[in-house]
Amino acid sequence: MALFKNCYEHFKGKFSKQYISAQTPKMHQKKKVLVLDLDETLVHCEFKENPNFQHEAILKVIHKGQEYKVYLRTRPHLNKFLLEASQDYEIIIFTAGYEVYCEKVLEHIDKDRLISDYYARGSCQFINGVCFKDLFLLDRLMEDIIFIDNNPNAFDRCQENGLLIPSYLDSDDDDCLLKLIPFLKFLSKKKDLRPIMQHLHSYENNIGATLFTDNQKTLEIQKEAMDDDSLSEDNVVKKEIDITDLDIKHKKTQTHFEIVSKVGNKIRSATLFSG
Ligand SMILES: [Mg+2]
Repeated sequence: MALFKNCYEHFKGKFSKQYISAQTPKMHQKKKVLVLDLDETLVHCEFKENPNFQHEAILKVIHKGQEYKVYLRTRPHLNKFLLEASQDYEIIIFTAGYEVYCEKVLEHIDKDRLISDYYARGSCQFINGVCFKDLFLLDRLMEDIIFIDNNPNAFDRCQENGLLIPSYLDSDDDDCLLKLIPFLKFLSKKKDLRPIMQHLHSYENNIGATLFTDNQKTLEIQKEAMDDDSLSEDNVVKKEIDITDLDIKHKKTQTHFEIVSKVGNKIRSATLFSG
């Protein structure tokens, strides 16, 4: 029954899209594929006005008959990142957020229509409340795909394709997307992008530095930290009163990594549409 529901949600999402990308698949026949998560990877959104959060736009999203105000801020250097990456990659969004939310965000951040497609919540698999993103849905060669997400759970089905990016909340100094540009250029020359981490290590050797510095951790380090996760769902619920139960498991991971990195008690993840 769960499998049937997943299939239904996937195809419902695919055929009810309103966000129309400008590029056709034919344009990308020889390009590599860059799959990007949305929340805390490219944007940060909140669902209540917050004096400590400087939003750049308010999006109105209607979900199940109710209108939500989404306070959005894009990660620094996003426009330049999309422009540069689109030279070598087809760009696809894969988010656990709902379709209506994803479309509104893409309308705002992709005015030049550099993103060719998106897969939203209906294309994700939820097992015991944990969200998994299966790249086989894309119908591309796995050797051509790099998948960047701030949640290591997302890589469960595609460990060799995954690159973990530090979560973005609202820092003006965040330069992760800027640093990714030369790495993606370096990677695009490889016949097989897998394993991403091996290419990352050789890139870091070349430049004599790590891609994400200091407390911005790599996949292996974050996975180790995850094994030691001491936060229970109860702890998360106490901190986040207004979350929906669908998001509890995901928020647990997000909250954990925010604490592991640098955010401390500044926990302000998105709520209903979080991905
Ligand atoms: Mg995310």
